Amino acid sequence: MTRIASNVTQILKAVPPHVTVLAAAKTQSASMVMEAYQAGLRHFGHNYVQEALQMLPAVNAEIKWHMIGHLQRNKAKQALDLFTFIDSLDSLRLVDELEKQASMMKIIVPVMIEVNIGEEEAKTGVAPDVALQLAQSVSSLSHLRLVGVMTMGPRFGDPEDSRIYFRRTRAIFEAIQAMQLPNVVLKYLSMGMSNDYLVAIEEGANMIRLGTAIFGER
Ligand SMILES: *Cc1c(COP(=O)(O)O)cnc(C)c1O
Repeated sequence: MTRIASNVTQILKAVPPHVTVLAAAKTQSASMVMEAYQAGLRHFGHNYVQEALQMLPAVNAEIKWHMIGHLQRNKAKQALDLFTFIDSLDSLRLVDELEKQASMMKIIVPVMIEVNIGEEEAKTGVAPDVALQLAQSVSSLSHLRLVGVMTMGPRFGDPEDSRIYFRRTRAIFEAIQAMQLPNVVLKYLSMGMSNDYLVAIEEGANMIRLGTAIFGER
């Protein structure tokens, strides 16, 4: 068994079955992604359209690709060509552009709102009150389907330090659920990375995003 296959096998054994493991593939090669795929993973993420553009044609597998990095509006169309999910909605302008492009492409796109829980370390995503507004906006659109909330905690340090971020993000997830918006079925709470995914799962994550724990140090 390769190192990547053995990492994936151990992780899948350690996490409860309701948790989806997404492999963060930035800087990895297509063959490394295929190893993780063959070990059982089906959800993969990229941070950059450019990197996905190079890798995806070389990876011939039934993969659900997620955009997990900041998406520039001028790359929205390209992103929709490449990715199944857009997990990093962080502005109303991006939402509008994605809706416009998806409408022209006649597709319906599952999306997630990226929340910045308002602490120093998390620099991407929107503030909690904006997250609720974005949820309302997405709910009214025909070509985007809100399916989740994502957050980035601190990447390093004591995993326990992430717990408060995760707890607050879960509260936002539940607040959006409680709005009972039309067309919104929140399914994914995406939080936790290699350093702190066990804490994230304890706080309600059902999608974790792992790079280092699968592929090794970048
Ligand atoms: C790189 C990355 C991850 C994974 O980080 P690791 O610490 O290597 O597990 C998760 N989410 C996002 C958005 C990332 O950019």
